[in-house]
Parts: sequence; C-alpha cells; structure tokens
Amino acid sequence: MMQEKKVITKKSGDFSKWYIDVIKQADLADYGPVKGTMVFKPYGYALWEGIKRELDAKIRAMGVDNAYFPLFIPESYLEKEKDHVEGFSPELAVVTIGGGKKLEEPVIVRPTSETVIYAMFAKWIQSWRDLPLKMNQWCNVVRWEKRTLPFIRTTEFLWQEGHTAHATHEEALVQVGLAIEAYAEVYREHLAMAGVAGYKSESEKFAGAVKSVSYESLMPDGKALQSCTSHDLGQNFSRVFDITFQNKEGKEDYVWQTSWGFSTRSIGGLIMVHGDDNGLVLPPKVSPVQVVIVPIQSDRPEVKEFSDKAFSALKEKFRVHLDDRAQYTPGWKYNEWELKGVPLRLEIGPREAEKDEVVMVRRDTFTKESVPVAGLAERIDEMLLELQRAAFERSRTFMDKNTREAGTYEEFKKIMAGPRGFIRAFWCEDAECEAKIKQETKATTRCLPLDAKEEKGKCVHCGSDATHRWLFAQAY
Ligand SMILES: [Zn+2]
Repeated sequence: MMQEKKVITKKSGDFSKWYIDVIKQADLADYGPVKGTMVFKPYGYALWEGIKRELDAKIRAMGVDNAYFPLFIPESYLEKEKDHVEGFSPELAVVTIGGGKKLEEPVIVRPTSETVIYAMFAKWIQSWRDLPLKMNQWCNVVRWEKRTLPFIRTTEFLWQEGHTAHATHEEALVQVGLAIEAYAEVYREHLAMAGVAGYKSESEKFAGAVKSVSYESLMPDGKALQSCTSHDLGQNFSRVFDITFQNKEGKEDYVWQTSWGFSTRSIGGLIMVHGDDNGLVLPPKVSPVQVVIVPIQSDRPEVKEFSDKAFSALKEKFRVHLDDRAQYTPGWKYNEWELKGVPLRLEIGPREAEKDEVVMVRRDTFTKESVPVAGLAERIDEMLLELQRAAFERSRTFMDKNTREAGTYEEFKKIMAGPRGFIRAFWCEDAECEAKIKQETKATTRCLPLDAKEEKGKCVHCGSDATHRWLFAQAY
C-alpha cells in the first residue's frame, strides 16, 4: 500500500511559492470564494486558538474585560474623525441595501471598531469614577485590500482590538506601553519570533492616532512584517465623540484613549520565520500538536498496546496525537507531520515495544534518540523547551545578521538592492524625504526603536540634521 507523498516547493528556491504550498499542504487554510478572503481550516484555526489563549490571558492580566460590539457601523460615525475616515475610506466595505431596501444611511462593515465603541463609551462614562474603562473584543474586521496574501493581508481577518479610556494622558501612555509589551512577550516567548518594538513615523501611524507603536519582525526574504500595533489616541476621538467626564475637581474634561490590535497576520509571520524545505516548524508553545506518536507495524498487538500505553501516559501533560490510521504507511505519516510542523515525533515499532523505549525525532534538526519509557515525560518536557529556545535563537540570529547600518545613501541603496533586511540609519523625520526613500528603494521607516538613543547625525537621504537612527525595511 503506497500513498503519494505531498510535495512542496523548496523554501530556499521560491519563497513565495513555498509559502502558499505550505499553507495548502499543511492544511492550514484555503482561499474563500470572494477574492482576498480565506478559510481557516481546523489545523490553522487551532493555531490561532493557541495564540489567542496565550494573548487573552495577558489581556485579562492587564485588567481588561472582553466584550463584543456590532459588526456594522453607521457611516456618519466613521466620518467624525477626519484622519480616521481618510485613512480607511479606500478600503471600506459599505452596505447600501438592507432587507431589499435602500438604506437611509449606508452602513460600514467594521475595518476597526474605534468609532462604534467610542459612541458607547460616551454614554457609559460620566465621572472619574467610571475610569479607567478597559475593554477588548475578539472579532473579524474587513478591509477591502487590492493585493492579498493568506494570513498576511486578507480582506477579512481575525484579531483582537483593545480599547481604553483614562483620566490622564500619562495613564493612557502606560496602557500603550503595557499592550505592546504583552504583544512582544507573545511574539518572543510563544511564537519565538524576534523583533523590534518602536514608534511609527507620522505617515506610518494609525489613522486617527497621536502616536503608534509597533512590533516589527523580519521575514526570511528580507522584508519586514508589522506584527501588531498599540496606539496613543490622545483626545482625538473623545473630542469628536464627546466622551467627557467630571474630574476630581468637578470640571468637565475629555478622556484620553488607547487602542491596540493583534491579528491572524501573526500566523503568516510564524510560518515564514520558522518553516523549512519540509514544511512548517512550529514552536511547541503554540503548536496544536506537540508530540505525535507513529506506530510501526501497528497490526502487531505488542506495538498497538505499547503505543496506546504511551499515548495515555502523555496525554494529560502534552498536546499529543496518536496517528494509528491503518490506511497510511509510517513513511507517509512522517512526511505529513513534518509538513505540519509538529515539534516531536515518537516512533514505536516491535523493537521499541520489546525494549520498552521509543525513538524520538525532533522536527527542527531531525536528530533521533532512543528514550526509555520510564523517563519519557521528563525528556519530552526538556526537548520541548529546547525546541522553543532554539526556534527563538534562530529567529534572533537571523534578525541580527540582517540588521545593517547605512551611513550613506549609496550603502542604503546597495543593501536594498541586495539582501534587504533591516537598515538602521539617521533620518530627518521629514515626510517628503521619507516618501522619496520609499520611491527610490521601496524601504519605509518601520519604527524608531523604543530604546533608540538621541544622537547627532545627518539624514541618510537628504543630509539634514537628524537626532535618531530609525529602522528601515521594505514592508509586507
Ligand atoms: Zn531627510
């Protein structure tokens, strides 16, 4: 009985094609019928649920409660904040007919929920006693994108969006920092993805924000992924939505607000950063399956019994799957679970059953070892930690190796024409200068790293005085 092995393009050969092959062959997702939409298949959705579980705990730990607001937003709400509507109008989905009748006021399918949430905040907030008000929602949003790529940029995507209102700007700024810190932790500790957190430039910030902070990760093709964002909204929205409160001195004041989001784009980054020529490589902390058991000659009673025993012993402690399907060969299963990126594989045949041990194979390096059943759970524990650590280490090493300083524009252009990656360079913070750099090299400012020191320098493009080295890259 032979089955065709699934074949994917080599990552080193054609990165874009590899990315699509992995998504399809690992059963993560498929294209939806409307252009730019995608279907999360169970394995891909399980991955999102794993990430969500970790992030949701961190959001709750910040004292933020989950709620749910409507999908539809009156058009007039969106128009209240000038920059916000300007930024989002090119990509809005607008409902003009409802129940067969032309609507008096068109309804927007949420691209983000500031406006609908803040209209409610205006009702709910009266006094300083009502503050801070902190809410989060897990939902879908729609942005009509022209160029789409599964997970990375889709017309409809899943995310969480946190929204808070505070009595002072200082308090709001603390929340902006807490959110980006929680995101960076999820990226580093769970998704094992290195990155740089920093302030966005004026032209790259969120439409309607005073300031935006993002976490930027570097993909293997040298392009950067803006992996999540946290915004200081100042009083921009509270002024137009009239969210006022009576402060402790009895005076009316506008609240200070933040919003922050983390989306299924993170899965795209995860696939790109960790995958290899054989498919996905998932960090154990977010892998839907951490250990897969593959019996060899499973029709032999001692193998079946031993595999069942191992599965029962491990299932309380790990996310473990026993692949005892009779219609597939062990070789086919190895290939399948490698493609799906499962961190550890346990092979159990007649010889292992006899010696009371298993063969353990790690997904990232393919190294094999025999492990006695007596110490199996402990060894798996160690190995999962080691795989998690190694994944982050590879990601960090790649980012460090591909972060370059450019002292002159010639150097800058040379890097962008070659390996790309992150470039650290002085920039004058002028929007026109930034636009020219983008036009000439495709690189945009990704962020001003949070830990960037003030220095004296000259803008890498125009030579004007500059005070900081910014992080540049071509963005996804
Ligand atoms: Zn300049």
